[in-house]
Amino acid sequence: MPETKIGGAIARYLTVGGATVDLTSRLNVMTPPEPFATLAACSGCPASQEFSHWRLMWQLEGGQDEEHHPAAADKDARAWAQAHAEICRAMPRAIA
Ligand SMILES: [Zn+2]
Repeated sequence: MPETKIGGAIARYLTVGGATVDLTSRLNVMTPPEPFATLAACSGCPASQEFSHWRLMWQLEGGQDEEHHPAAADKDARAWAQAHAEICRAMPRAIA
């Protein structure tokens, strides 16, 4: 399975086990590519979480709408990465 092309790491958190949790932007295939989500992924264990830049908002008059909130996604991703970094004791190694 080919790797999805992603941009450079936005942030990197060192876990207590010595691995890292990297935040990267997930890019769509449009030209030019635009980030649609922020991905937090641990290099020491399979834990990862994707935070969409698009949020489904319920409207007062009923119905729902998608709103673009990249900063909120980054904030949630950083919080997840930090929380995982504090508890993950996996050693950084490739899974055979
Ligand atoms: Zn981990």
